[in-house]
Amino acid sequence: MIRQTVLEYDHSDDALENLHTLIGNRKALVLKGLNGYGEAVRVFPRLENLPSVQFNGECSDEEVNRLNAYRPDVWIAVGGGKLIDTAKRIAFTQSVPLIVVPTLVSNCAAFTPLSVIYTEEGSYIRYDTFPVVIERVIADERLLRDSPYDYFKAGVIDTVAKWFEARYISGTTSKDAGIQSGLSLAAQCGKLMDLSIHEQDFRRYGTDVRYIVDHVLAIGGAVGGFGDAGTRVAVAHAVHNALSRFDSTHHWLHGDKVGFGLIVQERLIRSDDTFLLEDWLQSIGAPTSLAQLGIRFDQIDELVTSIVEEITIQGIRDLENPERLKEILINLQEVVYK
Ligand SMILES: [Zn+2]
Repeated sequence: MIRQTVLEYDHSDDALENLHTLIGNRKALVLKGLNGYGEAVRVFPRLENLPSVQFNGECSDEEVNRLNAYRPDVWIAVGGGKLIDTAKRIAFTQSVPLIVVPTLVSNCAAFTPLSVIYTEEGSYIRYDTFPVVIERVIADERLLRDSPYDYFKAGVIDTVAKWFEARYISGTTSKDAGIQSGLSLAAQCGKLMDLSIHEQDFRRYGTDVRYIVDHVLAIGGAVGGFGDAGTRVAVAHAVHNALSRFDSTHHWLHGDKVGFGLIVQERLIRSDDTFLLEDWLQSIGAPTSLAQLGIRFDQIDELVTSIVEEITIQGIRDLENPERLKEILINLQEVVYK
């Protein structure tokens, strides 16, 4: 199934200025995050005039139930990926539209018709796919260019992952029009590895950065929207989910763990791109060893079991050889300096 969720995407230097016109005379409620909301108010002070409710930080079933008590005509999500996922779930449950104001360039949550559900402690449980109407994604340059660089970097990794994971599932071409469209967009995402993403470039917010931001926020999300299960997550995200079961990895960002998962995935299939990928991740300071992720040698068996479970949960094709997975993880335990 081809499923897109966003009616309008406005990436411009003052995109927030049109918010009140878009809301009109509807009763709006802002779901606000801990950090990003204050930044959004700094850029656009009129945001504070709208009623708001605080997000508790996890996209969990409990949080969705709590927020479901509020009944606006339109929800406005101002925050990061987990907040946006929560808002989508509520908007869908209540059959009301949603406006999304991303405060981080870290994920494609604003463009995906799904929510990733975690426990209240932050461990991955599942993802739910559903039709949700996002009226507009407001990507305000003033807000995004000052957002945390680490999140941007992790977002780029998660976007590059679209290519490797789509290719893992569907190969490089498909006779299915949706999957082929997803693969074409995913290939564009993979090419982001060729662009410089250093912090000074991000702050300058030139043409290349704008191009990258569009891929992280929008194009990356459309990949799964076109290709559905044919271009969605694969082994790299299964590794991410397995890693998220270990407390020591909680301070790493989603994209950082996905990047490590990509190394595992590409080594598993003996891809020619493995070293290119590892070099790239090292060059931008992303973790490429289990030691960096705080996983000890004696935890590798538990990690292997978790990864195999996650691969099964996600319905990804079975590993031919779990022993090989263990070997790869043992090799990736220590930091390898080149
Ligand atoms: Zn991801």
